[in-house]
Order: sequence, then C-alpha cells, then structure tokens
Amino acid sequence: MYVTSGHDTEIRLTLEAAVDFLNLAADHDLDARALLDAHGFLRAKQASEPEIERIEERMAALLPEFLSLPTADADDTTAWVNIELERINIAPSLTIHDDAPLHIHWTPASAAFDDQVIADVLMALAQEVCDHGTSRFGICAATDCEHLFYDSTRNGSRRFCADPRCASRTHTADHRARQKSS
Ligand SMILES: [Zn+2]
Ligand SMILES: [Zn+2]
Repeated sequence: MYVTSGHDTEIRLTLEAAVDFLNLAADHDLDARALLDAHGFLRAKQASEPEIERIEERMAALLPEFLSLPTADADDTTAWVNIELERINIAPSLTIHDDAPLHIHWTPASAAFDDQVIADVLMALAQEVCDHGTSRFGICAATDCEHLFYDSTRNGSRRFCADPRCASRTHTADHRARQKSS
C-alpha cells in the first residue's frame, strides 16, 4: 500500500500551488490571493495588498528557473536554489495548528506573508530536489501549451498540465489521426 507521509504531502501541495500560480500568471489570468487561499495558505485572506503584489513579483522572478526545471542540469538547479535560499530569512519551528499534523514553519508568525510564501516554495523545492531531482517537473504535452506541471503520480505518467482541455483535445487529435490512418 502506498501511504504518503505528511512531509511528502506538504511538499507536493506547495509545489502544486507554485506551479498553478506560475501557469496562471504566465496566462495573465491570476488572482493571487484567491489562488493562495484555495491552496491552503491560511494568511491569504488577511494579507495586505502590497504583500500580495510582492508575491506576484517574487514568483515572476522565479518563473524562468521553474520553467527550466524539466530540462535542467542537476548542478545548475542546486546552484540557483542555493542562491535563492541565501536571500531569504528562514527561521524554522515545529508547529501544530488547526487540523494539520505537526509540521515545520520556515518563517516566524511575524514574517511578512510574501516572505512566508516564498520561503515555503523554496524549501519545498529544495527538499524535492534532494528527494527526486527535477524529474517530476515537466512541460504540458498538448500542442500550444507551455504550462509546467508537477508529476506526483507513482509511475511518473503525467503528460499534461492541470487544464483539462489539454488532455481532452490531445486525445481527440490522436483519435482522429488514428482513424485517418486506418
Ligand atoms: Zn502551518
Ligand atoms: Zn496544458
């Protein structure tokens, strides 16, 4: 039986939030506050407008590196993750709140919301790179889609981003191609 620990789940959820954020920002279709709230960032609703704007700016600055992950060299990825980690203020603490199991907060409760979000994303990525390298990151296989995805399937079978239209229009096109050739 396959059981994900809380730790693995935390990394997956944070990276899925980051990927969603970056894809929607690239499409100019992002409501950052609503997205972070939907992905379980408890402070999103109360965060100030400047904090939300800084998250948008800081995530946009990380976009090129995230997009390079599917084809990245391990040493290059290690180098840029370390550069980014040096820039942030991390002060880990064990915490338990709401219904969540005991987990690590990377920034103190007094940290600005943008510092918290960026620290969460970078620490999730740092742990991911240690556990799986960059192998779980991919670019959507649909024609005309450049979205990033994070593949948490057990057998690494993911091919498309979270947009359901990408999988369906590709399958329709494949089906038509097969009918024509038969
Ligand atoms: Zn927490
Ligand atoms: Zn796609």
